[in-house]
Amino acid sequence: MEEQTLVLIKPDGLKKSLTGNVLTRLSETKLDIVGAKIVKVSRPLAEEHYEALNKEPFFEDLIRYIMGEYHKKKVMALVYGGENAISKVREICGKTNPEEADAVSIRGAYGRITTAGVYENVMHASANPEDAEREIKLWFAPGEIIRDIYPTIDVEETVITKKWGEG
Ligand code: UDP
Ligand code: MG
Repeated sequence: MEEQTLVLIKPDGLKKSLTGNVLTRLSETKLDIVGAKIVKVSRPLAEEHYEALNKEPFFEDLIRYIMGEYHKKKVMALVYGGENAISKVREICGKTNPEEADAVSIRGAYGRITTAGVYENVMHASANPEDAEREIKLWFAPGEIIRDIYPTIDVEETVITKKWGEG
């Protein structure tokens, strides 16, 4: 089945210079990168992304972690598309708990558990098609993705946009 999935290289992955390693491992899937950017994660974005976990005892630490308060204040966000994209990426990603993850998976090779109990597991990968759609729509605008993956609507808006200035 043709699918899309959201990948985030989390702040620990960026701090540890693992971007190249993660992208190289993901290229084994032969999936297509259809969107990519560097994001400074705001609290509302972090809280919405992890809203299903907001009753968990580790929620506040998780929000701080994804906002980069323990590492670097940035995340690399990518959308991969192709046949069975979700399971292919999850497989290379490995289990949530880095100690349980297969040693050759990304999380198994590079993740750790902090003394506060948060799994610093280097990357995020959407778990199922519903999560993927919700997450991709949260992190990306339609114009940032080079394929029409979900229905869009045209809206006319007047916005203040930054352009390069003189000097
Ligand atoms: N997490 C954690 N402790 C847990 C469960 C989750 O620190 O007991 C963190 C971890 O960084 C994980 C994220 O919360 O990647 C989202 O959790 P989820 O259960 O959705 O796992 P994922 O889909 O990322 O494998
Ligand atoms: Mg999840």
